[in-house]
Amino acid sequence: MLRNAQEFKESLRDGRKIFYRGKLVEDITVHPALKVAINHASDLFRWQNDPEFEDLLVYNDQKYGKISSFYRIPKSIDDLKDRFNLIYETTRMGRGMFNIVKAIGSDAIFALMLVSKVVDAQHGTEYSSRIRSFYEDVVKKDLALSVAQTDVKGQRTKRPGEQIDPDMYVRIVERRDDGIIVSGAKSHTTQSVASNEIIVIPTRNMTEGDRDYAVAFAIPPNTKGVTLISRPMTEVEGAMNDPSSVMGNNNAENETLTIFENVFVPWNRVFLAGEWKYAGILAGMFPTYHRYTAIAYRAAMADLYLGLGKLLAEHNGTSEASNIRRNVVNLITYKETLRLAGNGASDYAENDPASGIYVPNRIYTNVGKLFANENYLNSVKNLVDIAGGLSSTLPHNDDIENPEERKLLLKYLAGAMPEKTEERIKLISTVRDIISSYGALFTSAMIHAEGSIEASIIELYRSYDYSGSKNLALFSSGVSNKLE
Ligand SMILES: Cc1cc2nc3c(=O)[nH]c(=O)nc-3n(C[C@H](O)[C@H](O)[C@H](O)COP(=O)(O)OP(=O)(O)OC[C@H]3O[C@@H](n4cnc5c(N)ncnc54)[C@H](O)[C@@H]3O)c2cc1C
Repeated sequence: MLRNAQEFKESLRDGRKIFYRGKLVEDITVHPALKVAINHASDLFRWQNDPEFEDLLVYNDQKYGKISSFYRIPKSIDDLKDRFNLIYETTRMGRGMFNIVKAIGSDAIFALMLVSKVVDAQHGTEYSSRIRSFYEDVVKKDLALSVAQTDVKGQRTKRPGEQIDPDMYVRIVERRDDGIIVSGAKSHTTQSVASNEIIVIPTRNMTEGDRDYAVAFAIPPNTKGVTLISRPMTEVEGAMNDPSSVMGNNNAENETLTIFENVFVPWNRVFLAGEWKYAGILAGMFPTYHRYTAIAYRAAMADLYLGLGKLLAEHNGTSEASNIRRNVVNLITYKETLRLAGNGASDYAENDPASGIYVPNRIYTNVGKLFANENYLNSVKNLVDIAGGLSSTLPHNDDIENPEERKLLLKYLAGAMPEKTEERIKLISTVRDIISSYGALFTSAMIHAEGSIEASIIELYRSYDYSGSKNLALFSSGVSNKLE
């Protein structure tokens, strides 16, 4: 049953333990900062009940009836393309802010569906049927999901089982007849506060000595022993006294340090428990889906930067200047390269014969993700270069609203189109939000979220098929006389 926004918000009032700036949050849906992240997530529930967006957000499933399009299992290249478009469009609808609460969880479920079959075949386990029944629960109840993969990790060069404190990676501390007890902590969990279930999966490959760390499961955030410590939402706090900050008042996502202190997980919610050889496979399969998601939402973000850049060039009267055209074309290239990577990743997707599920092509997915990592700050540079110094020195909205200053500001902040000075001010103020109140979040998210730069480099270096290139090198050097 598809839920509406109110039902979704109500479901979060369940006694979950969240701290924000040193205080326990009583009701997240009315908390001055966190409510913005909740409202943002609730948009997905609002839109799916709006006939205007039904085609995009609702899928008619043969077995379950109307379900969220995010939970449609990709069984063809076209399904993957629809998913890319869904994430791209919902990010645009969220003013360039990704809306994660159904995308990331389905990325993890698809990966778990694939990997659990392999584990079951080797170990006689029943993970596959457990993940299937979890999926049914998610679809039927139209749940919001978060994924906690990144462990706090302590000393980075040491394996989970070698850490001074054994809780640096989430681990099984006890196995019982009815389930497992887990402890440890995960970093940066996006929208855990706005989710109905947290899916936990391993963050890296494991060895036999890390057996207890090879664990995957799902639990509601209000489970006893779970504590969520929020990051400060500076982008929202900065917008509280500034109605002109449209993004900051409407579109934000939250991250938490997600702590598990002797948390009980019943067996039917456990999807990996000690089969250490498969931790790395799962840790690699989830990012393949999630980086595909990433290039879709990053392309939509890039669309916003391109629109801002082009409009501000027009406002400044510089749109035909060669230096500014170069900036605009760089923004086009950034956006369209991401879309191309998405097309490549779906056109060359692989079908898993055991499940019939399609997996985005790893090479194109990681090329796109790495390109986004390496070029994001350059796209900000292009935007700021076009906008000029007002992107930091623009007077506050309070000044614009003050009648005594307003006349002066509308006169002196005019660009090439004096009749549209207010539009120019609003566009510049959005650029200011992107580089200031959202600056820390976007900068580190575009470099680290969905896996660090090195994670994509490792994947590309390891997975790339070099045979054709090597053969060409040998042929061109006269070592081989056959071009294959
Ligand atoms: C805004 C945001 C949202 C996120 N959302 C989620 C989420 O919803 N769920 C989730 O699970 N994760 C999430 N992440 C986590 C993200 O995947 C990680 O930030 C990323 O994998 C890097 O891990 P880290 O932050 O622990 O940094 P670190 O692992 O500490 O990396 C810092 C640097 O050290 C390098 N490094 C680390 N270990 C080694 C080593 N052994 N040898 C050499 N170099 C090393 C890395 O390559 C990197 O350059 C999010 C991150 C951000 C910023």
